[in-house]
Amino acid sequence: MKSIVYSYIILLFVASLFIQPPLAAQSPVCYTSNVMTQYWQKHPKLEANFNKENQTRIHSFTTLGTWAEKTNVASYIIPVVVHIMHNNGPENIKDEQIFSQIEVLNEDFGRYGQGYNTHVDGADSRIRFCLASKDPQGNSTNGISRELYLQTDSFNLDMDIEMKRQSIWDSKRYLNIWIVNNIDSSPTGSHILAYSYYPSGSAGQPHDGVVIRYDYFGREGVLADPNLNGWATTHEVGHYLNLFHIWGDGGCSQDDEVEDTPKCDGPYFSPYPNCPKPTQCDQVRMIENYMDYSADKCMNLLTKGQVLRMHEAIFNYRSTLVSAENIAFTGCDKVDTNTNISITKAIDLYPNPVQNRIIVNLNQPGVQVLSIAIYNLLGQSVIFLEKRNPNTGPFTLDLQTLNEGMYIFRVSVDEELLNQKIRINR
Ligand SMILES: [Zn+2]
Repeated sequence: MKSIVYSYIILLFVASLFIQPPLAAQSPVCYTSNVMTQYWQKHPKLEANFNKENQTRIHSFTTLGTWAEKTNVASYIIPVVVHIMHNNGPENIKDEQIFSQIEVLNEDFGRYGQGYNTHVDGADSRIRFCLASKDPQGNSTNGISRELYLQTDSFNLDMDIEMKRQSIWDSKRYLNIWIVNNIDSSPTGSHILAYSYYPSGSAGQPHDGVVIRYDYFGREGVLADPNLNGWATTHEVGHYLNLFHIWGDGGCSQDDEVEDTPKCDGPYFSPYPNCPKPTQCDQVRMIENYMDYSADKCMNLLTKGQVLRMHEAIFNYRSTLVSAENIAFTGCDKVDTNTNISITKAIDLYPNPVQNRIIVNLNQPGVQVLSIAIYNLLGQSVIFLEKRNPNTGPFTLDLQTLNEGMYIFRVSVDEELLNQKIRINR
C-alpha cells in the first residue's frame, strides 16, 4: 500500500513538472487579475458589465479582417503624472529614472528603439505618452509629484484606494502612475511588481491607474536587476488599455480576446538571454509579447489585434484623456524633449488660418513614413493620410470636406511628431 502511495505521489510530482509552467515562486508577476477579482467581489455589477462589454462590442471590433481598414485609426497622446509615494528611502527615485520609463513606453508602443521588431503581426500602436507640463490647477509641472507616504507592508484594496484618494490627479485627464516601495507578495507566494485596473468600470474613477515598485520602473537608475528594461510599466499600461495576459488568465481553452496572439497555457517566464519559446496548445508561445511574463529583454511586441483592442478601449473609455482639449490642458501640446514627442523641423504647414487647401512642405530627405492625422476638438480623427518614401518639397492637402473651426494637425515624420492647431476660415 505504502509503495502505491509513494508511486502515486511520485507520479503526481512528475506530472506536475509537465503540467505546471516554469514559474518559480519568486518569479516577478503582475497582480492585475487578482486586484480585479477583489474589486469585482465588492462590485459585482461592474463585473457583469465588464463581461458583457468584453464579449460584445470589443471582441467584434478586433477581428484581423478589419485591420487594413483600420490602419487609418487615430494617433493618441496620453498625458502622464508619476506620483512617487516615498518615505525618503530608495523609492524616492530620480527624475531621470522616470524620464527613462516614458522613453520606454514610447518606444514599446511605437515599435521603434527597444520596441523595434520585424514580426509579421507587429504594429506601431500610434499611442504615445507625455509627462504632463500642467497640473490640474494649470500650474507648471514636470509631471512628477513627490509625496511623503509611509508604506505599509500588507497590500489590500482599502490601502490602494486610500493612497490614491490622497494623491490622484483627475484620472479622466491623466494616466496616474504610483511608484511605491513595496507591494506585499505574501497573498500569492510570488514576487508582485505592479498592478493596474481594466478600464471598464474604472476609467476616470479615483482608483484608475498603475501602481508599480520603484525598482522595476524605467531602464536606468535604481533597478532590481541590470537587465530590466521597463517592461513592467509597458505591461501594466497594456492592462490600463484593456489588454489581457496572452494566456487569457487560463489554460488552452481560455482566450485573451485578441485574434493574432496564439493561445497558450498559463503564466510562463522565458529567461534572458536564450528566450526559449515553448510549444503550447499546439502553437509556439509568443513570449516576445509585452503581455506575457518573459524577461524584459526577451520582449518587443504588440500585435495589430492588441492595437485595435487598445484603440477600441480608448474610444469607449478614455476619449477625454486623449482629446485635443485635454492635450492642451495638460500641456502635452508643448515641446517636451523627455518624451520623444518633439516639434519637428522636418515639416511646415501653411497657411494658418487656411481656407480650403493647406500646403505641407517636407524639408527632410530620406523619410520613410510621413503621416498626417487631423482631429477636431472632440479628439475625433477626421482625416488621415500616409505617404511611404515621400519626396521632399510641398504638396497640397484638400480640406474642403471639413467645416470651419479649429483642428489639431498631428504630423509624424518617421519618429518625430508635430502637433499644430490650424484654423479653417471660409
Ligand atoms: Zn499583467
